[in-house]
Amino acid sequence: MRKHNEKVIPDIYIPDVGSEVETVNGQKYLVANDAMYTFYKRTKGEFSPFFLALRDDKKVLGCKCRECGLVRVPPFLTHCPDCNFAPTELVEIDQVGVMNSTPPITYFASSLFADMAPYGRGRVILKGADTALSVNLYTTTGILVPGIIERGTEVKIVFRDERIGEVSDIFCVPTSELSPEQVAKKGLLESEIDWEHPQEPDISDVSSKDKAVFKKAFAKMRSVINEMNGNARARKDIASWKRDILVKSRGGQFGIFINDGNITLEDRGPDSPDFVIVSQDLRTLLDGLTYRGAITDMIITKKIWISKNKEFITVFKLDRMARSLARSKRASIMNSKV
Ligand SMILES: [Zn+2]
Repeated sequence: MRKHNEKVIPDIYIPDVGSEVETVNGQKYLVANDAMYTFYKRTKGEFSPFFLALRDDKKVLGCKCRECGLVRVPPFLTHCPDCNFAPTELVEIDQVGVMNSTPPITYFASSLFADMAPYGRGRVILKGADTALSVNLYTTTGILVPGIIERGTEVKIVFRDERIGEVSDIFCVPTSELSPEQVAKKGLLESEIDWEHPQEPDISDVSSKDKAVFKKAFAKMRSVINEMNGNARARKDIASWKRDILVKSRGGQFGIFINDGNITLEDRGPDSPDFVIVSQDLRTLLDGLTYRGAITDMIITKKIWISKNKEFITVFKLDRMARSLARSKRASIMNSKV
């Protein structure tokens, strides 16, 4: 989501005034932070009506050739090359369409797109259009994993609440996740969709064996979390991060609390968690926390489920902690051998 008063260059990329000493081949050199910058404005030119319609009217426009009737979305041609450059006219396009291919999902995005990930990126043919529009794709059911949106899936355009006149003002979700009224509504807003009730995997069917597995894994998990909490490297991975996590598994549930460098496990989960992790078999999550496979991979392969797409970043931090702990242990073993 876009923040108010956001700058073209976010503050975090702007270095402080200051200098440092770098030593090269035993010689000291003074290095100071400085800046060289250029800002520029870019016009959308003849595509302005398309972007203005997105921003101001929550409409999607296409261009229709007056000769052959072909409808192109987005309206990237003012004249049709198939009809001796006959002029096209802008027409409003329906906001429901069908994916023309199965979208790949980006889990590890570059810093520019990190706050959007995980997202699908694919091409939708909107009703009434003859060409496909590139869009980002999300789900309301929890984390976006393969299988939710495929070639042929019907999707609906959703508008960001805050729009600036970019194609990122819109994204798509499957129509099967929306009410008929939402599907029918033109200019459906992100804030009109329920993102807070994802479909949790069913873990109600519990055997006595499941309970025994849980008990054993839970005891191990408690000791791993304690180790992480006492490890400087792992603590650094969750500096200035705060999350109350409810972990559910066949056989029981508990809480993992992250609070600015501290990580604790408590028998009682939070009443209003930031998000939920479901690990059907608790040993799966334990494997991740003990650096036997990445939890992020377990999510992508649907062995572990999380309730909020954007919390993939927290899981990424848990993976880092597991790695930090494993590295510290390895380092101490090496040192003891010396
Ligand atoms: Zn034409």
